Amino acid sequence: MPDRERDLRTRAVHAGTKLEGAAAQQVVPPVHVSAVGYFDSADDLDRSLDGQDFVYGRINSQNTALLEDAIAELESAEAAVSYSTGMAALKAVFEAQAFKQKDRVVIAADGYGASRALFKALAAERGVELHALKLDEPDAHLKLRELRPKLVLAESITNPLLAVPDVQQLAAACKKVGARLAVDATFASPVLQRPLELGADYSIQSTTKWINGHSDALGGTVAGAHALIEPLKKARILSGALLGPFEAWLTLRGLRTLPVRMRAHCEHARIVAERLSASSLFDRVIYPGAEDYPNRELSRAMLQGGLGGGLVSFEIKGADRRACFRFLESVRIAKPAPSLGDVSTFVMHAASASARRMTPEERQVAGIGENLIRVSVGLEDPEEIAHDLLQAVEQAVSVQ
Ligand SMILES: *Cc1c(COP(=O)(O)O)cnc(C)c1O
Repeated sequence: MPDRERDLRTRAVHAGTKLEGAAAQQVVPPVHVSAVGYFDSADDLDRSLDGQDFVYGRINSQNTALLEDAIAELESAEAAVSYSTGMAALKAVFEAQAFKQKDRVVIAADGYGASRALFKALAAERGVELHALKLDEPDAHLKLRELRPKLVLAESITNPLLAVPDVQQLAAACKKVGARLAVDATFASPVLQRPLELGADYSIQSTTKWINGHSDALGGTVAGAHALIEPLKKARILSGALLGPFEAWLTLRGLRTLPVRMRAHCEHARIVAERLSASSLFDRVIYPGAEDYPNRELSRAMLQGGLGGGLVSFEIKGADRRACFRFLESVRIAKPAPSLGDVSTFVMHAASASARRMTPEERQVAGIGENLIRVSVGLEDPEEIAHDLLQAVEQAVSVQ
């Protein structure tokens, strides 16, 4: 029956699903919004349900697969898997481990507070011991060899104190004791560090940050060898924590400019750190690319091209939480937004935001004080950013 003779209900459902005469290849992939596909052959359908094709959006979807190819490429990985958020990626890595009761897991003591809270809850559920260590300390690899953990979660650059651990040394220690090393490389992004090249087993990204770069989609990825990524893909079919097609599309669009943006963010952050360091308003200005960074030699070795990343943290002299909140309200160019990696400059009060889910004792051990601010340096004029931050600090401390 010719299409035009079909019932309007049938035509309403089938019209406009294919473009006639469009033979040109499109530069940008379409957003594949269809959650479901079908085949003429039942055998093809049968095979596709194991994930070979794109028959059901929770099993596998086109935009997600394209993003995963791109992430694997950037991470120098055999494969990658994507998730609805960075937290879902972290959870998936923990859950993929064959832990026995009393097995040990190590996490960075000064890492992202939400990761710590998540691992604490998951460890309690599985009867596993969670140990928090400062993984950037010179004897961290010796402590790992003593503890003999099954899984270690490090951060490429810790959130928010910007400590840089020796991933190569941690990886060697993990190999010795049969532990898997996962590195949350969100802060460095694959431009500054590809943990798999340094011996890590998993590289985890919250793509919400630098990779997307425009704060318009949440997402997370895990990259690694086929043997470690395939079980994660299988588990994701059941957990349902897949990234949606439009989010994957936006993330892939952002990823195209990641290397160029990252270089500019690093250059701007270096200038901002220099201007702030010249002021007497701070107890400490922390920037992994600064010459006075405590372990500059290591940060140079761990972060490609000796770059320092797009984040700068500082402690405002004599400031309490109120003064820091006044700072957040006094910036004019920067935005007091609890995230990072955007084209705009974001400022954040660490103790009440990224370290919010840590206990006061955990924050104290980590060295996260009430006067600590983290800046994600944007693509605005770096001199204007520095000026904005300095005027806001002056305003914040002038009221007593
Ligand atoms: C933001 C962040 C996460 C969590 O990612 P979401 O996409 O927000 O779930 C994990 N690790 C680090 C270092 C982060 O900055």
